[in-house]
Amino acid sequence: MNMDRIILHSDMNCFYASVECMENPDLRRIPMVVGGDPENRHGIVLAKNQLAKNCGIQTGEALWAAREKCPNLAVKAPDYHRYMDYSRRARKIYLRYSDRVEPFGPDEAWIDLTGSPVLSRMTPRQTADQIRKTMSDELGLTVSVGVSWNKIFAKFGSDYKKPDAVTEVTRNNYRQIVWSRPVRDLLCVGRSTQAKLCEAGIYTIGDLARSGRGELRRLLGKNGEILWCFAGGFDVSEVKKLNEKTVGADYDIKSIGNSLTAPRDLVSDHDVKMLMYMLGESVGMRMREGGFRCGTVEIHIRDKELRSFTRQRKLARPTVLTEDLVRCGYALYKENYRISETAGIRSLGIRACALSPADDPFQLCLTDDPIRMERSETLEAEVDKLRRRFGNNSVRRAVTLGDSMSGLNIKADHVVHPVGYFA
Ligand SMILES: [Mg+2]
Repeated sequence: MNMDRIILHSDMNCFYASVECMENPDLRRIPMVVGGDPENRHGIVLAKNQLAKNCGIQTGEALWAAREKCPNLAVKAPDYHRYMDYSRRARKIYLRYSDRVEPFGPDEAWIDLTGSPVLSRMTPRQTADQIRKTMSDELGLTVSVGVSWNKIFAKFGSDYKKPDAVTEVTRNNYRQIVWSRPVRDLLCVGRSTQAKLCEAGIYTIGDLARSGRGELRRLLGKNGEILWCFAGGFDVSEVKKLNEKTVGADYDIKSIGNSLTAPRDLVSDHDVKMLMYMLGESVGMRMREGGFRCGTVEIHIRDKELRSFTRQRKLARPTVLTEDLVRCGYALYKENYRISETAGIRSLGIRACALSPADDPFQLCLTDDPIRMERSETLEAEVDKLRRRFGNNSVRRAVTLGDSMSGLNIKADHVVHPVGYFA
């Protein structure tokens, strides 16, 4: 197999928390987390330092729960600008080794070293060690790196041992180290997929690889086959190119969108408004969770004749509000489509584009009412909390009541998977 590629996956350890500790070394000596909205009882832990980890604090848990585990916990609000800067500098380091650098979120990236001149001087492991050392010298951050012949196992390797470690997954050892692990450790296996696989008696990645491809297709559809490829080491997807110009521009998320093929054709403005609210709520909530504001709204419509179009509009000012998103989306629809029983809509999408950090200052318009805006923002944040605790359908807009579609759990059912795989 001398044609094998050499792919690294580098993962910055506890990224947000490490950056904060780098900027303020005192934070290293106390348990500390980066968390959304520290004033707010229901904010969540986005990242933690080692001492907080030692207290049993987990990423994603509520700040109040974290404080119960560790009463003297320091909580730092996220500073996305700073993280973006570190992220860009890390990518520039990776670009010294290859132009095929594909970011996966702000703190991770694949680097394809196949054919790279560095390999005439160093082994892949030595290269990974050198990257690890450079990251520590120049950014003050530790990374864990996986090395393998495909992206999936390289990613597995970077999760396998951390912090500050290198793991090689080779054709000789993958059965021992990858196959013995639970399916959950494989990229793209979430909780619900794991549950389905366990029900079918598939517990480890090895079980998955040894299952029949047809069986997995029956169990999980197309994704089943993809996972089977992942588990067996057959993934051939490429590491995309990143150039100097786009190194910082393509930060993590460019837009957040959601679309749905409706269970029945939409035949009235009311139908469209209802579905647009349902989709918009999930987009808005994800946007707020990510700490973003959007400057542009985009809609996509496909009708029952399968004609489709996309329209977008820049907002007068960036927003975090579902209400603003949907109002703009609905206006775009009204201006561009005349609906009727015979001109029904089959699928509808709404997308928040031109994202910027929510705490960026922005210019208010003369017509804006800052008090009303703040009230709406507080209201929507409260609703997000209720939904997180009691489920998406615990709070619904009047417009979405009384229809067979209104019970759809848009956010949970329509998870957007990482770029490149299920697109
Ligand atoms: Mg990380």
